[in-house]
Amino acid sequence: MTTRRNFLRKSMMGAAGIGLASPLGSGEEGIPAASVDIVWQRHVPVRYACDVAVIGGGIAGVSAAMAAARSGAKVILVERFAITGGNATVGGVGAFCGETAGQGEAFDAIIKGLEAFGAIAPYKPYTEKESRTFDAEILAIVLQELLLKRGVRLLLHAQFVDVCVKEGKISESILCGPSGPEALRAAQFIDATGEAQLALAAGFETVKGRPEDGLQLPMSMMFTIRQVTEEEAHAQVPEGWFTPLKTKNDLPMTSLWPNGPGSSAVKIKIPKFDATDTESLTAAEIQGRRRMMEVLDYYQREEKKSWILNHAASRIGIREGRRTVGEYVLSVADLRSGRAFDDAIARGVFYLDGHKPDDDKRTYILPPEERKVPPYQIPFRSLIPKGAKNLLVAGRCLSADQLALSSARVMTTCSMMGQAAGIAAAKMAERNTDIQNLDYTDVRKSVEERGANLSV
Ligand SMILES: Cc1cc2nc3c(=O)[nH]c(=O)nc-3n(C[C@H](O)[C@H](O)[C@H](O)COP(=O)(O)OP(=O)(O)OC[C@H]3O[C@@H](n4cnc5c(N)ncnc54)[C@H](O)[C@@H]3O)c2cc1C
Repeated sequence: MTTRRNFLRKSMMGAAGIGLASPLGSGEEGIPAASVDIVWQRHVPVRYACDVAVIGGGIAGVSAAMAAARSGAKVILVERFAITGGNATVGGVGAFCGETAGQGEAFDAIIKGLEAFGAIAPYKPYTEKESRTFDAEILAIVLQELLLKRGVRLLLHAQFVDVCVKEGKISESILCGPSGPEALRAAQFIDATGEAQLALAAGFETVKGRPEDGLQLPMSMMFTIRQVTEEEAHAQVPEGWFTPLKTKNDLPMTSLWPNGPGSSAVKIKIPKFDATDTESLTAAEIQGRRRMMEVLDYYQREEKKSWILNHAASRIGIREGRRTVGEYVLSVADLRSGRAFDDAIARGVFYLDGHKPDDDKRTYILPPEERKVPPYQIPFRSLIPKGAKNLLVAGRCLSADQLALSSARVMTTCSMMGQAAGIAAAKMAERNTDIQNLDYTDVRKSVEERGANLSV
């Protein structure tokens, strides 16, 4: 049996295999295993109330909040970091993959905002170019201003902790921010945490990773380097801190692309960690920064590059965490057949980007000829945790199998899902009704009226 600790140890063996000490530090073996549960109770003030509460301010959550507000709902968006954008900003991912036109008015507004700042590459259809780069620093500004313009109330530095459930419905979510534990009461909730944290807390079924061992698509550390003159260049990594890499073969998958004058963006793969486990994610962050320094050291020392570290993403990039088990589980077969659904609310076009979960090289689950998919639809039912009455999910925690998610997780598609969840939640709040009483084809109609192209 693979216990959580064994899984973690195996994760760290991956790290040890490339010559590193345990990313959790030398005290790890001395920590006693948690073997008891405790009951934790306290009174907290219900400080916030709204029609639609969106938890998680990544591209899916922002799109959901913008759409619900556009429908006239009173919306609160909860985000644990200082800025919204999630992977797109804090994680340093600087390109929209897939089709950037026809995603709906929420995404259109984001694109227009970036264009106004001159912070996005010119439009080309997906058939000509698979991604569109943008300035992640400016995106953080654009998102917050768009949200505020629509009257969305933002709670930053607010970590979602738990839910209260009454008669099968979430009544409040418990948050903890600088003012301590507080409750947020809402008629409808949208889980856009990426890790399906509300669905999990409310007791809905979730899964993660590949079926045989739960291994998720690898994370990646994103950072930028600055090209300096040879005179300015100096070896930035002192001897004895990290393991020197000797040949190109020792490098993890390293992607490099231009990032403005004199700068390049770098992405390195950090596999075999679990984004849904606190200890494992801690280890991944430490490992990510260690590998980043090793890669930098390699280029400075072995390839004589005049590069210095410019900026490292504040959080490692997470491709996959927990996935909801919904009223419908979108499958890779649905994508391959370009399946259409009556209750379609989003459309994907991106290829199956399934990086091999247990390897840090440029390897994929599928051979190149099997990665392409035709345009496909995502049904509204994939946003509904099985049996939920007032909870929808959006973004990379949707109900899908691992390979289907490897395409649907791109930001264009996450935004479409977010917009649909926001529209649906606002409808339910307005009509004071539950998901089961909603006409899903009516949600589809509204999504299309808001400019989403669902054609397959
Ligand atoms: C390395 C890497 C490269 C990628 N490259 C591309 C690319 O080039 N183009 C592309 O389109 N896509 C790319 N993707 C995929 C894409 O970035 C993500 O799948 C997408 O951004 C997910 O959006 P999301 O809103 O679902 O989740 P996230 O962006 O993860 O957002 C979730 C948000 O919820 C917040 N949150 C989580 N838990 C809590 C809590 N308890 N309380 C409060 N807030 C919480 C988080 O802080 C975060 O802001 C890449 C992903 C990675 C990791």
